[in-house]
Amino acid sequence: MTDDKLELYIFIDAFGWELLKRNQWFLEGLITDRKPLETVFGYSSACVPSIITGEYPAAHGYWSSFYYSPRTSPFRTAAPWLKLLPGPLAERGRIRRYISAALKKICGFSGYFNLYNVPFEYLPYFDYQEKEDIFAIDSLGGRQTVFGALREQKAPLFIETRHSDAGKIESFIKAVRHGRPGFAYLHMGELDALLHANGKTSGIVTKKLREYDNLIRTAYREAGSRYKAVELTVFSDHGMKDIEAPHDLVSEVEALGLGYGKDYIAFYDATMARFWFLNDPARNRIGSMLDRVKTGSVLSDAELKSMGAYFPDHKYGELIFLMKPGILINPSFMGRKPVFGMHGYHPSDPDSCAMIIKNGPIPAHVNKITDVLKGRGIKADSRCCAMKA
Ligand SMILES: [Zn+2]
Repeated sequence: MTDDKLELYIFIDAFGWELLKRNQWFLEGLITDRKPLETVFGYSSACVPSIITGEYPAAHGYWSSFYYSPRTSPFRTAAPWLKLLPGPLAERGRIRRYISAALKKICGFSGYFNLYNVPFEYLPYFDYQEKEDIFAIDSLGGRQTVFGALREQKAPLFIETRHSDAGKIESFIKAVRHGRPGFAYLHMGELDALLHANGKTSGIVTKKLREYDNLIRTAYREAGSRYKAVELTVFSDHGMKDIEAPHDLVSEVEALGLGYGKDYIAFYDATMARFWFLNDPARNRIGSMLDRVKTGSVLSDAELKSMGAYFPDHKYGELIFLMKPGILINPSFMGRKPVFGMHGYHPSDPDSCAMIIKNGPIPAHVNKITDVLKGRGIKADSRCCAMKA
């Protein structure tokens, strides 16, 4: 047993404050403090970089995954071949997952990549933001990440982002048995997919939380037997909204008769549509059509600025149309079939809210997801046991 202290951070994707309120038994007896956390506008592609840099997307530059940039598109070579795939085959989820993995390799991406339902013929219009593994590089858009800072200090750091969630706990247990990390970060990703597929009241979700409860208690017990003190923090990036209704926005835009790639470019996320315009008539017609859609609204520059998601070069869209919470753009470039849960709505919606729980008092300044790891760091130490699976 060492006399060291371990800071153990367990991130659980999409474990929102509202879900925690419904499952108050979670880590009961171990956790002594809990708090809602204000999220960052966008998807995990915006939230996670914000968590690990402690900055908003406008500062670190990571917001959505795909952005209009035909000149730099890494998909130009592969897209014409993909178009040759017969439609029904290309639409199969499993086939698209294989294609995503192949494209990731061809394009040399090391970060998270998913092609979702983006039409192959539109891929050459887009570039992709998260080309590199954001946990492995030391800074994002010139902003140092907490891991970059710890690596610079040669701090004994353990990061687990690759295995299954249960595998991450196993790998953590090995790390504390055989090494002496002072700071550990486990990135749990499986709850998010279950919430999308089932909604937050599903028994499948409750079962997953029970599994996390067991896994975290096991990890904590193991660490507790080897360290004098273990500071446990479990937190998330955003919540999940149960879907109330789908909305076929793509058909409404296409009914205007404008040409995709000739008059405009659009990227249809599940909760927002982002547009770039190639001429003024297209800008006006799409703009006035969207004004009539009552299930969402165009975000003003002032609103985007207030959310830290305004980009003066309009990299992620010249016009961003956000759906009301619970309304799903369907079909979208994220999927063809409606799902039961979605995130990426306005951060002010209660279901957007993230959470933090801790086996000790949560500092008063921690109120937003950008506050959790901000300024974290441990004393410089020559031993380094970084394990990257
Ligand atoms: Zn998700």
